[in-house]
Amino acid sequence: MKPFFLPLITLCFIACSCSKDSGTSSTNTYSSTDGTTTNNFSRLYAKLYNVVSVDSSGSTNIIIKTTDVPDHKSPFFGVGNAKYEAYNGDNPSFDTKINLMGTISDPTLLSQSVTFTIPRYPTVASTHSSTTGGAIGIGRNGVVFFNQYNGTGAALDDLEINNADQYLGHPTPSVAGAQYHYHYEPKWLTSKFSNTAFMGFLLDGFPVYGPYENGVKITTSMLDSYNGHVSATEDYPNDKIYHYHVISASSSVPFVLKLAAPYINGGKYYGTKGTVN
Ligand SMILES: [Zn+2]
Ligand SMILES: [Zn+2]
Repeated sequence: MKPFFLPLITLCFIACSCSKDSGTSSTNTYSSTDGTTTNNFSRLYAKLYNVVSVDSSGSTNIIIKTTDVPDHKSPFFGVGNAKYEAYNGDNPSFDTKINLMGTISDPTLLSQSVTFTIPRYPTVASTHSSTTGGAIGIGRNGVVFFNQYNGTGAALDDLEINNADQYLGHPTPSVAGAQYHYHYEPKWLTSKFSNTAFMGFLLDGFPVYGPYENGVKITTSMLDSYNGHVSATEDYPNDKIYHYHVISASSSVPFVLKLAAPYINGGKYYGTKGTVN
């Protein structure tokens, strides 16, 4: 049987065997309205919520701590929990069970202790490092982003996609810690804040925005190979900033989600990545 999801320890230590960097780099033409000539996304730190702490007192990094427990309901809270909500999405094949190399688990999401240390003034990297399994960023609600691959670096298969709940999140298998995460459009955030809103940060400190901009649905063909571009956003209407976009997920069924890949990131970071522990 095809491995579904490797344990987190494996995720953390096996980087995807991506080929040599063939990414394109956006023109670095952004400017800041925050009083410096470097990227400064401080007005976005204030939009983080449902996190343990945000420490922006350091000169080079901001430190964000989260339990990674979503502020929305999910089937993965487990029956009996106040935040349990039965699946009510549009995928008839949804299943809470996860197959990990032949071992079936039915995880209840667990509180984590995750610390992100990300650049305060992000800059484009000279060598773009690959995203790996595990957290690659943090949603504005404290839930972590994973990339578009499973633990082996392969595209997500039907089994994993069928495990995405109505907000398009799910936990890792029990043996891997049952860590809740989003691979795709974080439906809770786009419905709560709008589909053009700030969604969170990737580990390189560049922000992630929703799947629309100026009334236009963003497609990967409009973005660079990292799933980002330089333009004004609703938080920086008079500036050009580098930012990523999540791609719209019009349905939760596998063939639709597969067409939308990559979802949050193109497999490499645009900027120099920070750390996550
Ligand atoms: Zn996953
Ligand atoms: Zn944009």
